[in-house]
This record gives sequence, C-alpha cells and structure tokens, in this order.
Amino acid sequence: MVKCPECDAEIKVPADSIEGEIVTCPDCGASYELVKAAEGFGIKPAQVVGEDWGQ
Ligand SMILES: [Zn+2]
Repeated sequence: MVKCPECDAEIKVPADSIEGEIVTCPDCGASYELVKAAEGFGIKPAQVVGEDWGQ
C-alpha cells in the first residue's frame, strides 16, 4: 500500500505487481509508476501517454 502524494488516499499495490507497472489513485485518478523501494514499492509520477516530445 502506498499513499497518493496528491490527495493522501491509499493506493492498493497488488502483491504480484512489477516495477514499472502503472497504478491509479482511486480518489483523484492520478497515475503513478511503481518503483522498487527498500520496503516493497514506492511510486513516482507516470509519464502522460501521448505527451508530445517534439519528435
Ligand atoms: Zn490521489
């Protein structure tokens, strides 16, 4: 379980999750990418799909 940095809601992280998986906050709908941490998983803001990088 991790806490959403936006709204402080708890986001469930399935036990079989893998690093890089996208989780979505049930409260505010923000998306985060799972990153491995010392104690289970942490999260970082996910890159928005479809963002234009000027390619
Ligand atoms: Zn949230």
